[in-house]
Amino acid sequence: MRILMVYPQYPDTFWSFAHALRFIGKKASLPPMGLLTVAAMIPGEWEVKLVDTNFTALGDEEISWADYVFISAMTIQKDSAKKIIARCQELGRKVVAGGPLFTALTQEFPEVDHLVLNEAENTFPELLRDLRQGTLKRVYRSDRWADIAVSPVPRWDLINIKHYATMCVQYSRGCPFDCDFCDITVLYGRAPRAKPSANVITELEALYARGWRGTVFFVDDNFIGNKKLIKNELLPAVIGWMKKRKYPFTFLTQASINLAEDEELMRLMVKAGFDTVFVGIETPDETSLVECGKLHNTRSDLLANVKKLQAFGLQVQAGFIVGFDSDKHDIFNRISRFINESGIVASMVGLLNAPPGTKLYKRLISENRILKGSSGDNTDFSLNFLPKMDSAVLIEGYKKIIRDIYRPEAYYRRIRTFLRNYHLGRRLHVYLSKSHLQGVFMSFYKLGVRRGVRRHFWKLMIWTIFRKPRLMPEALTMAIYGAHFMRHFDTLPNERRG
Ligand code: SF4
Repeated sequence: MRILMVYPQYPDTFWSFAHALRFIGKKASLPPMGLLTVAAMIPGEWEVKLVDTNFTALGDEEISWADYVFISAMTIQKDSAKKIIARCQELGRKVVAGGPLFTALTQEFPEVDHLVLNEAENTFPELLRDLRQGTLKRVYRSDRWADIAVSPVPRWDLINIKHYATMCVQYSRGCPFDCDFCDITVLYGRAPRAKPSANVITELEALYARGWRGTVFFVDDNFIGNKKLIKNELLPAVIGWMKKRKYPFTFLTQASINLAEDEELMRLMVKAGFDTVFVGIETPDETSLVECGKLHNTRSDLLANVKKLQAFGLQVQAGFIVGFDSDKHDIFNRISRFINESGIVASMVGLLNAPPGTKLYKRLISENRILKGSSGDNTDFSLNFLPKMDSAVLIEGYKKIIRDIYRPEAYYRRIRTFLRNYHLGRRLHVYLSKSHLQGVFMSFYKLGVRRGVRRHFWKLMIWTIFRKPRLMPEALTMAIYGAHFMRHFDTLPNERRG
């Protein structure tokens, strides 16, 4: 049996870092972890190839080589997935599709031969069995949450890890909270399910053995969903392993803001090598937080919590949303002010969107306010529902936030605010790779001469040398992120793009 796995293209999004990757000589930001995990469940005697279309052209001969083409995608990859499926059909090859896109929008893919939905640990073994017996069904579903302890180590040998900026592991799925716009709880439930710590260590060891050194993303929906377990089991295991391997990785993850309420947990995470955490702040407006059910964000001072995380050695990246029914016209200025004061350099601000299956979607359907499906792009200036605020005012206000926070002057000032707040303890990770050196050279070469940016760039460099010299790697990394964000949002003044 010959299986071709194809990862569809994702467009230029906030998190694609498309305009930053060239600084460090990488081709994509994240590997196709879902496909690699599924690949590890395929019988060893079958031939498996993987094509990541984000940087490799998919040839007709590769499609024709395969008995089956397996595709996994997220909503943002829908257009590319549709095109790949059409090509496979033209060449007479059967397609097996799975992952969040196909699970959430099953009805939009009548052309797919076989759909393997929900969590692959439950449905994929059944598909493999039927494939062997020649009795394939069209749809494989499960209404149980999977036991992710059985999830195998991804087949890293199927890709060239050097092409990617970051590697991934997953410890848990699900989130105990219930924000009404979030589809995580729809896809993975509210009771966090975790792998045994030993499995995570095996996955880290596999990346280490393949030669990876650098950033590893714990792709959990909410890493601190079960605090007791990570404090007592996972983090002590990771701390021990990192020490033994002489700190080859730095970690980033996603967590709820209540992380700032637990000093022991923050200390353990930093000790384990975590240096960045993405948190969903959504809005500084308490009424809107109550409206969307994000009650854990109303319990304490959000700005103070961000500064506390930074003071403990965790860089904060954050998501913000405008378009809640409770939003007043001052929300745009309030969000811009919050972001600039907090020093959250990578702030993803988006218009509220209602993904299918969420509580919000159901409410808006009942109020006859859904306009179309969700694009999966958090920052694409489009609404999929009728907001309470006038749509034009809302979109204009949203654009104003983007201009306020991603114009070069504000962005570079925010980097300095972050560097002032940030307390870096002992730097665990001292590994210097070719891509780090390339990043230094390219940032000086590109940002140091680019009109509209160069003045701010050099001011940051000089400020950092005199005020926070140890944080020069962070200052340069954020300047490179800025090159992406400013291009992505097109906030560089036209006459000054250089
Ligand atoms: S805390 Fe985050 S992951 Fe959890 S339900 Fe809310 S938005 Fe979703």
